[in-house]
Amino acid sequence: MKIGILALQGGVIEHIHAAREAARNLDIGCEIIEVRTKKHLEGLDGLIIPGGESTVLQKLCQREGIFEEIKKVPAIFGTCAGAIFIAKKINNRESEQKTLELMDIEVDRNGYGRQNESFEQDLDTTLGKIHAIFIRAPRIKSIGSGVKIIAKNKNEIVACEEHVGKNFYLVTCFHPELSTSKFHEYFLNFLR
Ligand code: GLN
Repeated sequence: MKIGILALQGGVIEHIHAAREAARNLDIGCEIIEVRTKKHLEGLDGLIIPGGESTVLQKLCQREGIFEEIKKVPAIFGTCAGAIFIAKKINNRESEQKTLELMDIEVDRNGYGRQNESFEQDLDTTLGKIHAIFIRAPRIKSIGSGVKIIAKNKNEIVACEEHVGKNFYLVTCFHPELSTSKFHEYFLNFLR
């Protein structure tokens, strides 16, 4: 199995560590590579898009000529800015901001407020109890009928997944890579 971590910006190293831990916990052989070019995308089973800043992610992907290419990866796990980056619809976008439009969710960028309104919260998820860290997180405003909820914080959906044909998309508004490998295990287990 070969997994890529988009390594142009944001929380890359934390995702590498969480993916390694997940592979160890599941006892599966998994090559984990950093993705910066078209060549790195070749033969990937799954791609993780870290948090950071969605507008910057977009510009760097366009500069490297991989914006369209990423859409061919069959499974994508996006956290925070990564979730914004694969959403079909975003509100509060910067002018010129584009997303990959892969997953049927509508998100409000920075929907929980500014940086100093970032917060941590214990959550019950379908994957078990976790501690979730929200950093200038997007708010999921609505989901399509094919999207399955994995976690809610009070009434807000904060993690969900969608199967589109053979493709699989998983997103979290928070940063699982900072506190748990459960979501990485879920992603790798699906690919297996
Ligand atoms: N607010 C950021 C954005 O618009 C996301 C923040 C994050 O990834 N922690 O991309």
